[in-house]
Amino acid sequence: MPASPFWSPGVAGLTPYVPGEQPRIANLVKLNTNENPYPPSPHVVQALQAAAAQGLHLYPDPESVALRQVIAGHHGLSADQVFVGNGSDEILAHAFFGFFQQGRPLLMPDLTYSFYEVYCKLYGIAFETVPLAADMQVRVEDYARWPEAGGVVIANPNAPTGCALPLEAIERLLLSQPRCVVLVDEAYVDFGADSAMGLIGRHPNLLVVQTLSKSRSLAGLRVGFAAGQRPLVEALERVKNSFNSYPLDRLAQAGAQAAYGDADYFERTRQAVIDSREALHQSLVRLGFDVLPSRANFVFARHPGRDAGWLAAQLRAHAVLVRHFRLPRAEQFLRISVGTPSQCNALVQALGQVLGADPEAGARQ
Ligand SMILES: *Cc1c(COP(=O)(O)O)cnc(C)c1O
Repeated sequence: MPASPFWSPGVAGLTPYVPGEQPRIANLVKLNTNENPYPPSPHVVQALQAAAAQGLHLYPDPESVALRQVIAGHHGLSADQVFVGNGSDEILAHAFFGFFQQGRPLLMPDLTYSFYEVYCKLYGIAFETVPLAADMQVRVEDYARWPEAGGVVIANPNAPTGCALPLEAIERLLLSQPRCVVLVDEAYVDFGADSAMGLIGRHPNLLVVQTLSKSRSLAGLRVGFAAGQRPLVEALERVKNSFNSYPLDRLAQAGAQAAYGDADYFERTRQAVIDSREALHQSLVRLGFDVLPSRANFVFARHPGRDAGWLAAQLRAHAVLVRHFRLPRAEQFLRISVGTPSQCNALVQALGQVLGADPEAGARQ
């Protein structure tokens, strides 16, 4: 598209993030954007109704104090160590602005959440990608080779691989990069990985970011948070209050608090997703796929004989949507969100038909 004369000079050079599609197709099995297949707790819906019935003519609490207290209590932190935002993507943006414009390169894995690179371009941040090991795992030793890093960002579990690092590896990473902020994006941590929250007291350079979009079924409400020692949280507050004083509306603050109030529901739904993930992993192996070990609510799988782009297109024709990234190292993988048991069955059935119909079709070049 040609640049418009109305655009600021930087706009034409942006490379925006492209989210997974949200098509309107009837009876679609939608396994492409890592949404939770279960709705949020009924307590959340009640809290939203109550919040909608009062006070919408007034601005919300700009500091979201009550919600920050709830989140802090849940993680054994104090409220002033917690920062909340309009989805964790917004928090990542503030963190990139606040910590990584250092004139020294930011380090990130060569295959990770593609929004990180988008923020680097938005803010003019130089970055270096550190290759995943052959087994697609992050190898923290490789980050220690950059003593002059301006920051480190990793997702744990990583996206789109689903692979997780143990806490002792995160701690080694923190100790090897004491001069810069290490941001650990824990969007998927509740599905079976270890959270670094407990390391915050010992590591002034650690910022942990989580979201309510995945494990608490609230992608539509837009709530995320960051936790760290006070100087890091203060930086995020300074950026936020220079950008938008009211990132969380009254509904988001009330709904998010209610989600933390229903611990039973959280446990049941996340365990259901974990159980479905393990069953899906086994089904895909039986269909001949290589499947990476996932601690997230998706699996990353590759078929040795069939082209991943072809498979994704065939599944789409069967009204099953999965994500295929045309990225180096990822182009022969499908990222499949874990659905309900019946959605997973529909996927497995469709794959069985696609793979069984013609043994030659879609063979890899
Ligand atoms: C989904 C996701 C996010 C964004 O979550 P929101 O809170 O919905 O903005 C951040 N990081 C990773 C790795 C994700 O997969």
